[in-house]
Order: sequence, then structure tokens, then C-alpha cells
Amino acid sequence: MQMQQRGGGGGVTHGLGPSAIAALPAYAYEKKGGADDCAVCLGELQRGEDVKQLPACAHLFHDACVDAWLRLHVTCPVCRFPVEVDAAALPPAAAQVVAQSQ
Ligand SMILES: [Zn+2]
Ligand SMILES: [Zn+2]
Repeated sequence: MQMQQRGGGGGVTHGLGPSAIAALPAYAYEKKGGADDCAVCLGELQRGEDVKQLPACAHLFHDACVDAWLRLHVTCPVCRFPVEVDAAALPPAAAQVVAQSQ
């Protein structure tokens, strides 16, 4: 039995680009009544911590936590709603050029 597998076919994890992540609103967390948890690290959001809010679903996360998440995913960690980013904030074409010397 011969199995030949040549590395092909996608499988690249798709996430948001750095500029898209940076375009999301971030601010210092303010406690308003109840406690909010960050669904990425499961830690409680503390007053004054940098948090980021997803505009599509208004879920809150630690700034750094959701940044790391969105590099690998394009959906909210809580509700799986697609994270919508203002198209104007994105580069017109994928600016990521793989530089390979031959
Ligand atoms: Zn977190
Ligand atoms: Zn959500």
C-alpha cells in the first residue's frame, strides 16, 4: 500500500488581519453593576483594564485576549457571531506577500 501525500490543500487557519483587529473599539473597562467575564481566559474583567468590544454583538473581552483569538478566528468566542469590521479600515488587497527567494 502506497500513500503519497504531498502537502497541499489549504488548512491555513483564517483570522482577522492586524489592521482589522486594531480597528475594533477598545477602552478601559468600567464596572456597571454585574461582573463581566472574558470568555477567552475566563477571568473577570477588572475596572480599568483594557477591554475590547465586538461591534457586531457587543461582547467584551480583554484587549490582549481577543486580539490573540481574532488572529485565528473571525467569530466571537461567546456567540460565534461573525466579527464585522468596517471594510474601509481594511487594506484593498491582502497586503501579506510571502517573500520567497528562489
Ligand atoms: Zn481575558
Ligand atoms: Zn458575541
